[in-house]
Amino acid sequence: MTRLQSRQISLLHLYQVLHTVRLARPAASRAEICQATGLSQPAVSSLTRRLLETGALMEVGARPSTGSGRRERELALNPDFAWVVGVKVSMHQITLALVDFAGGVRDTLKVPISAPVTQAALLQRLVKEIKACLAAADPQVRQRLAGVGVAVPGMVDSLRGEVHWSPLLKPGRKDEAAALAAPLTDALGVPVMIENDANMLALAEQWFGQAARLSNVAVVTLEHGLGLGLVLDGELFRGHSGLAAEFGHIQVVPGGRACRCGKQGCLEAYVAHSAVVGQGQEAGLLPGGELGSGEIETAYVELAAQARAGNRRARQIFEQQGELLGRWMGNMVNLLAPQLVMLDGMEEGTELFLGSLQRAMNEALALPHRQRELLVVHHRGDETWARGAASLVLQRLDESAEILESVSRHGFETEPDGPRPVT
Ligand SMILES: [Zn+2]
Repeated sequence: MTRLQSRQISLLHLYQVLHTVRLARPAASRAEICQATGLSQPAVSSLTRRLLETGALMEVGARPSTGSGRRERELALNPDFAWVVGVKVSMHQITLALVDFAGGVRDTLKVPISAPVTQAALLQRLVKEIKACLAAADPQVRQRLAGVGVAVPGMVDSLRGEVHWSPLLKPGRKDEAAALAAPLTDALGVPVMIENDANMLALAEQWFGQAARLSNVAVVTLEHGLGLGLVLDGELFRGHSGLAAEFGHIQVVPGGRACRCGKQGCLEAYVAHSAVVGQGQEAGLLPGGELGSGEIETAYVELAAQARAGNRRARQIFEQQGELLGRWMGNMVNLLAPQLVMLDGMEEGTELFLGSLQRAMNEALALPHRQRELLVVHHRGDETWARGAASLVLQRLDESAEILESVSRHGFETEPDGPRPVT
């Protein structure tokens, strides 16, 4: 084995150990790490020793070990090892969360925004708010800031750090992707990652929420727009150029209602809050005219109040919303077979469409799926999305970056020498 291969395997094993402890929250024993990773006891002892030396892990409490009667010290992530900022940008609000290495949210900040804005304005605003969030934090946080994760709605190429299309942005002069990650990295001096917001919520659910330990999960987000985050075989599924899972832009009515993405007849153009409000306006139930992003949510609440008060047309709009969404959620399950489907977004109005959604979804499901409790409805706050954005950075950190730099100071040069790679 070459020295390079040996080093790569060593890094992979470190990642496996660290990630096992992360998912085991709050703590894991060495025996549990052996079991989860398939690594030998001596290997786990050596790897955990390195991670303890770097400060990424710490020993906490003890529990009686089976058999020998010795009490075994457990391992947990050291929250103060590194810090990240998670940001969720929605059409009317920016939510920032200061997150520690263990994924704990230590502080949150919410500021209003009125999207769409230009790319330059969004960048300027994000830099300003992230700096303000950090200025209010302890100096130790700034010293050990590992990165920033930004969750945005739309079609995001997270590898390139670019947005192909987002409702947040006014159309640019050229039909090309808008770079966000690189200019933010330059302005803030730490790595910045961007990702689709529904993906971030799916990651947060897998790490901290109801989807923990599930390998196949679909998170549908219904608010201003309609999103889908997929964890498939334990990994976020992004597809080519990050363009996967554009559930909102499945064309359900050829030549139908105009969608914000530029197409016609997209699912989002019928079921998202902006679309439901549009239908309320057309029915004369809401004042007409172009609405700002914050006004759309207010109008959605107003339409829900009319439906609750017994307005038949308003009720019908919500029932149709549930029916169409449910049918396509059922079809999505047939395609991907997740263990769990989570519906998230604003709580307001859910009871008005949930019945028709469940009926239509059940009708669309292939028979084996109907036997299971599939659907969970959640209303996570924007902090959870922001925490998901921070989790993306933590994941990258587990894989490389600061820990590995630190580990390399302690360990790699003492690796057993193999033949040097041929160059
Ligand atoms: Zn569309």
